[in-house]
Order: sequence, then structure tokens, then C-alpha cells
Amino acid sequence: MHKSRREAVTAIQGKAPVTPLNPVTKVSDIFGVQTFNEKAQKQYLSADVVDKLKKIANGSGKLEADLAGVVVEGIRKWAISLGVTHFTHWFQPMTGLTAEKHDSFISHDPDSGTVIEKFSAGQLIQSEPDASSFPSGGMRSTFEARGYTAWDASSPIFVVENGGSKTLCIPSVFVSYTGESLDTKTALLHSVESLSTAAVEMLGEMGEKVSYVSATIGCEQEYFLVDRHFVDLRPDLLLTGRTLLGAESPKGQQLEDQYFGSIPPRVQACMAEAETELYKLGVPVKTRHNEVAPGQYETAPIFEDANVAADHNMLTMEVLRKVALRHGFVCLLHEKPFAGVNGSGKHNNWSMATDKGENLLEPGKTPHSNFRFIAVLSAVLAAVHKNQVALRAAIASHGNDHRLGANEAPPAIISAFMGSTLTQVLEAIESGADLSKQSAEKSLIQFGINRLPALPKDTTDRNRTSPFAFTGNKFEFRAVGSSQQISFPVSVLNAAVAESMKEFTELLKKNKQGAVSTDSAVLATAKEFLTRSKTIRFEGNGYSEEWKAEARKRGLHELLKTPESLSTFLKKEHHAFLVKSGVYTEAELEAVVHIRLEQYAKHLDIEAKTLQRMIEQAVIPAGEQYLGTLGATKTASSSYATAKIEKVAGLLTQLQTGCDKLTSVLDRAHEAGDPMKVAGVFAEEVAPLMGTIRKASDALETVVPDELWPLPRYREMLFIR
Ligand code: ADP
Ligand code: MG
Repeated sequence: MHKSRREAVTAIQGKAPVTPLNPVTKVSDIFGVQTFNEKAQKQYLSADVVDKLKKIANGSGKLEADLAGVVVEGIRKWAISLGVTHFTHWFQPMTGLTAEKHDSFISHDPDSGTVIEKFSAGQLIQSEPDASSFPSGGMRSTFEARGYTAWDASSPIFVVENGGSKTLCIPSVFVSYTGESLDTKTALLHSVESLSTAAVEMLGEMGEKVSYVSATIGCEQEYFLVDRHFVDLRPDLLLTGRTLLGAESPKGQQLEDQYFGSIPPRVQACMAEAETELYKLGVPVKTRHNEVAPGQYETAPIFEDANVAADHNMLTMEVLRKVALRHGFVCLLHEKPFAGVNGSGKHNNWSMATDKGENLLEPGKTPHSNFRFIAVLSAVLAAVHKNQVALRAAIASHGNDHRLGANEAPPAIISAFMGSTLTQVLEAIESGADLSKQSAEKSLIQFGINRLPALPKDTTDRNRTSPFAFTGNKFEFRAVGSSQQISFPVSVLNAAVAESMKEFTELLKKNKQGAVSTDSAVLATAKEFLTRSKTIRFEGNGYSEEWKAEARKRGLHELLKTPESLSTFLKKEHHAFLVKSGVYTEAELEAVVHIRLEQYAKHLDIEAKTLQRMIEQAVIPAGEQYLGTLGATKTASSSYATAKIEKVAGLLTQLQTGCDKLTSVLDRAHEAGDPMKVAGVFAEEVAPLMGTIRKASDALETVVPDELWPLPRYREMLFIR
């Protein structure tokens, strides 16, 4: 083994699990202690103010102008009691990460001649960070780069402890001087409101009075943990979060022994500490397990309102990254860190709930007679059908390009899976059959073994190849990438469903005239919506070639790469609903696309340059060294050595030629002009060329002697911890 790899392995083998900081035995004791939650509010604010904050949080109340003045002193006292020294508006610019700029509470006190801790309503409500270095997609020129953050009172204020210092974080939106959104939260908040309005109207037309409807989200977060010692030796993991080269390990995930397997002690210690941090921040993480690929894991929370769930997912990713380092790991959130084994996604479980907490996608015991369920489901399916391009574009990124359509993750064709029971119900509605004859009562799984209970059977089965699957009482938008901010895809989904519900309401109004009952009008409307969107429903294997052919016949879009999906999305017919519903302005949408294209190109540029350096500084030198030793043996046994020399020399030539070509292709990419063209060259030329270079490098890796290969191998990174 090469010396540097040997040193890394030795160091890792000497590691014991790190004892988690502040281990907990009873979660309810610490849950939310670092948030200004209801308990803290009750201690520092009057009862009517607590009630007002609650209404804002659940979407039924408005933030009145004077509220900040009433709450700010309570927040300050609470924060100081926790040992907080600084505050920050915590926001989500379009970098894919969160941003914070801390200010201390101190201010001069003329009376005492020293400083005192102060926090004003103005500071709570608004701040003006220098926005010039955040991506704006050309909406602002740098010289007039004024950006404002504004308090989002619907998401809990929290305290982050970092390096022994505590900061009060105020969840905020980020907008430009002229009011355009520069972040991902603003659109999400608009989409939530738009969905609520549309759903309330639709339910009202069906005779049901509710005051608001919220979107609910529970996102399953997948990630990899790789030991830091290996990452330090791999410039690609360090700089890009994925391996740009590396020969496959003979054992990967074939034995299917990793999924739900016993969690390695060092990993479990890390998970436990991350969970503790998250509990304190009020993030209700509930599930943890090993995922399919070696070194891959998952965490999932109890679902929450979309806006809070989006904030909490950002916190989850941040906490995972930080805590992993303390445990000697690097947490890889990239969609495809390793070739040949599964990549990571973020399954967004999505539904809607009324003010009474009723789930609008709950079929109940008899889905065929649950008219509300049928109506909502039909509206959702029609939304997915009509706005498949937007949904595909919403999950487009350099990382997800490796996943979608790669026969392990949902395909790049958007379709919806319903399960056999519901398919029967929906087909019966379409054909106008007598629904009273349908029986979809839950049946029981009978084991016929006395010691085992009979289990109620779910009305849906599973299909892991579907990008948008109905799973019992919610949809699982499975195609979202593991590193992505969920706000954008969730905004698009909310807005699409809002539009569809509005259309449903209009048609229902018409159908009600002359109908025998509201129920029969609802069925007639659902029938129309189901027929219209029939082509989006697919129950089979989404990975199969037959499906691709079938989807083409059905006229569904297959948008394989990011630039292609974003350019299709830019056509008015594919995004008009977002503008009409007020979720984005046309200018904001153009900026969003512009930024995403730029990010795509920048990420690929960094990857290409990193690959080039690794090849020239590590791979080629290892090959040359081997060539040297082969040259020395040549005189001894000539034909054997000559064949080997030719093979190695051939690969080295390919590598050098590939790197040289990469330089010229990169130059061409940068000179291509507008961002769409630049991204196009990266997708069409740079990415395939990187693949070719990698192939030569991986071939070389399998022939170069172990002691000469300096880069940690797949088997080491995936299996040693
Ligand atoms: P899976 O079996 O799909 O891996 P998990 O238990 O890992 O399921 O995750 C399911 C997620 O779905 C959880 O985060 C859960 O809270 C969430 N969920 C359940 N019901 C709803 C709902 N009505 N709306 C949104 N999310 C939901
Ligand atoms: Mg899961």
C-alpha cells in the first residue's frame, strides 16, 4: 500500500467512537430548548402576544406592524439568559446554502460610559447585508447592490452554538431594494399562501369550510460519511464533494447487506450527536438507518409545515456537516459521490393539511367514497401532468444530473405512481363505473401463525422507480437531490397544485349546475381531471427502456440534463403558472434560471480543473513511476514487459491527451457567450470528456502496483471507518 494511504488507514484504525457532546437520555427534556418556542414565549411575553405569534406561525394570522416592538425585549432577555452575545438574520440566498452576518448586542451607554446589551424592533425586523457578492442572476448590478433581509415570523427564532459562542438566528427572507426576491424562501412563502387560498376555495365549493390549508413536508435526507483522513488525500472530495475518478471496488452494494444493516459505532455516535443538536434546535428528527450504498445513511424528521420544514432541512444539513467533522468524518451531501453505487436523494414527502389538522390526501378506509380525497388527488395529478417540465427543472442541478435517469434513482421523466388499489378506483371514476360497487376496504395480511398478529394492509404498494409516488396518505417527490434546498421544488409543486385546484373549482362550479348532488358534480370534475392527466400515471418500472419508449409515445418530457431542462422551462407555457400565482415575477424567474445555469457551469468547471490536476499531479506520476520500474525489468523478460509497458504507456498517453483537450474545451466553454450556451458546452463536451479521462485513470489504477497508488481507493473510502 502507498505510504500516504497506509498512514490514513492506520490513523483510522486507531479511532474509537467519539463520545457525543451532551448525550441525552430523554429527548423531551431538551427538545427546542434553543428555540424561542411557545414555552419560552410564555415565559417572556404576554398571553395575547403568544397567541398572535402562534397564529402567524400556523398561517392564520398576519404580522402587524407593532408586534416586533412588543416581542423584541422578550427575545433579548431570553437570548441573554442562554448566554447569547450576537444576533443575525439567517437567510437562504441562491447559493444553495444559508447565510449569516453576526452583530453583537452591544451599544454605547452614555449614562454609564460603557456598553450595554440592546436589541431593537428595527434590528429584529430588518437588516441590510451587503448584497453585492450574492448571486442575483443579473437582477441587480453590483454598484446598486442593496439587499434587505426581513424577519419571517412564521419560522421559529433559534440559537446556534458554534465553537463555544452563541448566536441568535432570525429566520429571514432576502429581497432586493426594488422588492425582487434574492432567496429561495420568499417564493416558498408565496407558494404556501397561494396553495392555501386555492385549497380553501376548492373545499368551500365542495361544501366544506376551512380557514386555511398548509403544505406539509417531511424530507428524508440521505448522506455519506467518509473518514477525514481519506478526504484529505482526495482533492476531488475536498473541493467537489464527489470522486472524479476511482476504480470500482469489487464489492460494492451487490450483496445488499448495507441497507438497514447494523450501524457502525463511530457512525452511530456521530448520528446521535447530530440528533441532539437538532433536537435542541427543535428539529423533530425521528428515523435513522443505513442506506443502500456502503457508507451511506439516512435521517428523516416528523413532517412539518413546508416553510419550517425547509428551514429545518437546511439546519439538518449544516449540523450533519459540522458534527461529522468532530467525529473524524466528512459528510458528503452530494447526489453522486461514488460511481457504481447508489447516489443520494432527498425524498420530499408532501401533503396538505387543514386548520383542523386533517390530511387532504388521507384516503381513509374507503377511498372510493371519500370525495374530498378523490377531488384533491385528481387536482394534484393534473398539476403534475401539466407542469412536469417545471417540476423537472426544479430539481435540475449538476449533482442530480448523475442521478436522474441513471437506473438507480427516479428517471428524468416525471410520472406519478398510485398503487394498485387506487389505480382501480381512479380507473373506475374515469370509466364512470358505479362506485358503490367498489370495495377498497383495507384488507389484512394474515400470517396464519398463531404468534403473529394480523396486520392491516396499506392501500398502496411501493415503487422506488417512480419520481412522484403516492405512499398511503402523501406523495413522495423522490427525484429531489440530496444537497438541494427544498424550497424551489416545493414552491413549484405548491404553485402547480394551487393552479390546478383553482381550475378544479371553476369546473366544479359549472358542473354543479344541474347536477343531482355536489358529490356527483365532484366526481364529474374529477373524471375530467383524471382523463386529462392520465398519461402521467405509470405503475411499471421507471428504469426500463420500455418506459422511455412508452413515455415518448405518451408525449411526456424526458429532459436528461440541467441545461436542457432549464431551457425548456424558460418557455412561457412551462412557467406561466408561477408568475400568474405571484410566486415569482418573470424577472425573478429569469434570474433563478440564470443563477442555476451559472452554478451548473461553475461546478463543472471546478470539477474539470480538479480532475486535471489530480491526473497531472498524482495519476500520471504514479503511472510514470511504474513505467520506470517496468523499463528496468525489460531486459530480463522482454515480451512480457513490453506488453505491460505498452499498456501503461497507452493509458498515460490517453490521460495526457485528455487533459490537454480538456484545457481547450474549457476555454471554448468560457467563450461560448450567454449562460445557456456556456452550460451547454459543459453538459455536451466537458462532462463526457471528463468521463473519458476517468475511464483511462480507472484502468491505470487497476494495473499500477498498490504501493505506487497515492489516492485512497473506493474500497477504503467506502468500507473503512
Ligand atoms: P420511507 O418508508 O419512505 O423511507 P420514512 O419514515 O423514512 O419513510 O419517511 C417518511 C416521511 O414522510 C417522514 O418524514 C414523515 O414524517 C413524512 N410524512 C408522513 N406523513 C406526511 C404528511 N401527511 N405530509 C408530509 N410528510 C409526511
Ligand atoms: Mg426513509
